[in-house]
Amino acid sequence: MDAGSPPLEGKSPFELRVNLGKSVPESDVRSALTTGDMGFLHSFTTGSTVDGPGVRVVAWTTGCQFRCLYCHNPDTWTLTNGVPVTIARAKEQLGKYRRGLRLMSGGFTLSGGEPLMQDRFAVKLFRAAKELGIHTALDTNGSLGDRLSDAELELIDLVLLDIKSFDPELHRRVTGAEVGPVLEFARRLAACKKPIWVRYVLVPGYTDDSDNVEGVARFAASLRNVQRVDVLPFHQMGRFKWKELKLNYVLDQVAPLSPALAATACLQFRAHGLEAY
Ligand code: SF4
Repeated sequence: MDAGSPPLEGKSPFELRVNLGKSVPESDVRSALTTGDMGFLHSFTTGSTVDGPGVRVVAWTTGCQFRCLYCHNPDTWTLTNGVPVTIARAKEQLGKYRRGLRLMSGGFTLSGGEPLMQDRFAVKLFRAAKELGIHTALDTNGSLGDRLSDAELELIDLVLLDIKSFDPELHRRVTGAEVGPVLEFARRLAACKKPIWVRYVLVPGYTDDSDNVEGVARFAASLRNVQRVDVLPFHQMGRFKWKELKLNYVLDQVAPLSPALAATACLQFRAHGLEAY
């Protein structure tokens, strides 16, 4: 561990973490973003079985330009809420998991936040993972995909692509951002035959409209590189973070999604020949 730095391993991304990189001078933050020699991470967690194939080690980055109404980790929006981690320390951390991941046919997933807010650090981490022979996955909102060159994309075995809404207006309403660049990145991944797992969060009264689900399903099926779709039911596990951070949580009264609605959405995806869970 770097002298005096906070612990890097977390029990889960649901731990609230703030200001852990606040003392890093602005010039060092800028240099980190340019070189990727240092990054900001909420935490490393182990044992995930939902963030890619097998058992995963996940590094949760900080920094995100979306403002999803249902975000369950709003502490990851701010870059300097994360622990400053040199690339050497992050590589060492990955090295510790190498044998176990091989045994469990697992891999390394970079999630967030939005990992491509720190695209140079992400590339260095993926390169390190590949050098260790570890399967790599990027969990992304897809809007900053053009920060990666084609050669850099080769370092990533699988992209977990969050499509928040197919309808542009609803996408804007739910995330504060445009859907166009997300779909563009998906098409680029399709063109280079990079496997995608689409993730779609079903929020009652927002993204559960069947026309919207249909739009995502039709689009995903047209790509021909989507290996599976994960329908993620809205939950309230992140509510306490919004309260602690004194953010206006407009979904406060929204009930968690019923299993029946999630099952219906899965059927819609399957009707287009997609594997959906
Ligand atoms: S893209 Fe992810 S981290 Fe960013 S606001 Fe949305 S849910 Fe939160």
